[in-house]
Amino acid sequence: MVNNKIINAPKGVPSQIQGKDKLGQTLPSAQMASANTDKEGNCKDRLCPIHGDQKLKMRGRTFEGIVIKKLPGRVTIQFERMLRLPKYERYEKRKTKLHARLPSCMNNNVGVGDLIQIAETRPISKFIHFVVSKVILTKEVKL
Ligand SMILES: [Zn+2]
Repeated sequence: MVNNKIINAPKGVPSQIQGKDKLGQTLPSAQMASANTDKEGNCKDRLCPIHGDQKLKMRGRTFEGIVIKKLPGRVTIQFERMLRLPKYERYEKRKTKLHARLPSCMNNNVGVGDLIQIAETRPISKFIHFVVSKVILTKEVKL
């Protein structure tokens, strides 16, 4: 009896792994879109708001500013705002810097000196909770 048990154990054939057809059937909407974008722009950025498998939702505030620094995957913009000083009844200029994520599909469109718009997203890293939404003016065309 003991021998039979030992012999039977190794004979247990692993159940055949059958390919699941569920993934193939759920193709229509999401995977078709990603396939199209791969053909057009080769955008493989996961955090791209337009294409990218985990789509970044843009919500909240938007700002426009000039790109002062460009690093792989991120840009820094700067813009001026006016702060009212009640005591002197005048305004002073303050500068604000914001860091924004640059999707790989927009990497060639954005350079230092360009005027761009950024939109708020969820926090992506310690400093970055904006993403570049569009280019308003490039430095060369600037009037
Ligand atoms: Zn993209």
